[in-house]
Amino acid sequence: MQIIEIYRSIQGESSFAGLPCTFVRLAACNLRCTWCDSEYTFTGGRKMPVTEVEREITRLAPGGLVEITGGEPMLQERELVPMMESLLGRRYTLLLETSGERPLENVPHEVHKIVDVKCPGSGEGGTFRMSNLSTLTDRDEVKFVLTGRSDYEFAREFTREHHLERKAGGVLFSPAFQKDPTRERDASNCMLDPRVLAEWILEDRLNVRLGLQIHKFIWEPATKGV
Ligand code: SF4
Repeated sequence: MQIIEIYRSIQGESSFAGLPCTFVRLAACNLRCTWCDSEYTFTGGRKMPVTEVEREITRLAPGGLVEITGGEPMLQERELVPMMESLLGRRYTLLLETSGERPLENVPHEVHKIVDVKCPGSGEGGTFRMSNLSTLTDRDEVKFVLTGRSDYEFAREFTREHHLERKAGGVLFSPAFQKDPTRERDASNCMLDPRVLAEWILEDRLNVRLGLQIHKFIWEPATKGV
């Protein structure tokens, strides 16, 4: 597998936010979101056999939460799916962060998928693979990263039209972060003010979770490996 980094930190997003977690960050992505904070994953990384990746996961923590992220991890589906099956067999709880563009049919059922639907402001709107909707279960979460009002309206309509509140375990609306954030560990780096987003969600009576990337409030926003 082509791996950028494997490290231990606090989960920053989703309904697992706040929990200690081992992160496995895979190299390469086929999208180019305008606000991407992981461009360092697009090239490079280290080739590691699956056995070595698993060994490193075990060394960092013998159990608990593991998030597979990237880049786009499903570009390495051939090696990744057997590795996820093996980790599940060893009773790890697995999260898979994916852009929603790659097919997800082969992801083991027990994995908690956190699936993006790219909004227009990402520059990658329309890349969501609609057949992925039928793979969602109540273990999974659908995430919209929002740059402003038009992204919010897109996310609201998509959520309603496809009954995401029923189809998935959770729906996340998260403000996008500035591409070149300051060192401030506060909401001034969000492209959409979380307070404004909270007001819109309440006004529209949406049953969605307002997501903040809490690692960017714990550490300076540009810090890598957290
Ligand atoms: S899908 Fe993720 S890694 Fe790829 S460009 Fe978008 S934000 Fe970056």
